[in-house]
Amino acid sequence: MESADRKTCKLCGESFSSRSEKTLFEEAGEWLAEDFWQDSGDLCSRCLENRGRLAMMYLHERNS
Ligand SMILES: [Zn+2]
Repeated sequence: MESADRKTCKLCGESFSSRSEKTLFEEAGEWLAEDFWQDSGDLCSRCLENRGRLAMMYLHERNS
């Protein structure tokens, strides 16, 4: 069986499939991907999560 929405991550090269349920960090990463990098949909959930986590830490530091 082949999944139609199988993709290769732009950052780490992992193959991944888009899922419907997302973690908080994944959502943050996806939001950032759409707003700043315009590469939403090209990253695996792990990279989205990493990006979201880093960005949230960064933004949190800037705002406090
Ligand atoms: Zn990745």
